[in-house]
Order: sequence, then C-alpha cells, then structure tokens
Amino acid sequence: MKGVLCPSCERNKMTFYYGKWYCSNCHSQSNEAHKQALADYALLINPYINNRQAREFLQLPTSHVTKRILQKANLDSIGATSGRRYRLEYSNLLQVR
Ligand SMILES: [Zn+2]
Repeated sequence: MKGVLCPSCERNKMTFYYGKWYCSNCHSQSNEAHKQALADYALLINPYINNRQAREFLQLPTSHVTKRILQKANLDSIGATSGRRYRLEYSNLLQVR
C-alpha cells in the first residue's frame, strides 16, 4: 500500500503540504507521519530506498521535497547524487520519545 496513512484516524492517506502532513478526514497534522510508512517499506519491500522510490511510495509532489524528508530523517546514505540510497534504520524511524 502506497502513501502515508493518518496516525490519528487510520482511515485516510495524508497529503504533504508546505513541510507537514495533513489529513483531510480528521484534520490532524504531523511532521513525522512518513516515518511509519518508511519503516513499513523497510520491512515489507527493501531496507534501502532511493529518492524516486521514496517519492513514489510516499506520494510526494517533487524529488526536492522527497530529498528534504529523507535528509531530515537522519538516515545513513550510500552513494552520491542521483544514485544515492538511504538505509531505512528502524531505530531512526521509530524513536521512542
Ligand atoms: Zn486522519
């Protein structure tokens, strides 16, 4: 399943808009809703992801937005520029705070 599921109502996919995820169903907002989706991707598909795959999986509008999200998640990366892959580390994605 693609997209970022709303962690509040768990019924709706969230939309990324100006740096945050928004749910059109329950109107909640999140800065980090994509982390659960990336953790699911690591478990179900591949522990490494590149920009194009992340953009498609998270259904983000541009590769630039995707890059910012991946960089802010503090993931280790392998390779440079277009070939860069990010290691989806559970301890980074699902931090207990
Ligand atoms: Zn919701």
